[in-house]
Amino acid sequence: MRTRTCPFCKEEIHGQAMVCRYCTRDLPPVAQRQKKNSHTWLAAITAAGIIVSGAAFLAAEFLRERKNWLTEPPRRPTPQNPPD
Ligand SMILES: [Zn+2]
Repeated sequence: MRTRTCPFCKEEIHGQAMVCRYCTRDLPPVAQRQKKNSHTWLAAITAAGIIVSGAAFLAAEFLRERKNWLTEPPRRPTPQNPPD
């Protein structure tokens, strides 16, 4: 189990304790991992950016293809001259 040190009495307590069992003071929520969180945020933002840019690329490709469909003349069977 992970432990941390009480900021008031410096005793070792449970890592997720809300109240110190030695000095019985309310403990602030676990905020020691802020740096790691920001790193996770960076990774999440990077991943989101990759996903968004990938989606944008696909959308651009799709629109370009669709433009081709629209500009491409419809295929018709070769006109047959009626027999005399
Ligand atoms: Zn304490």
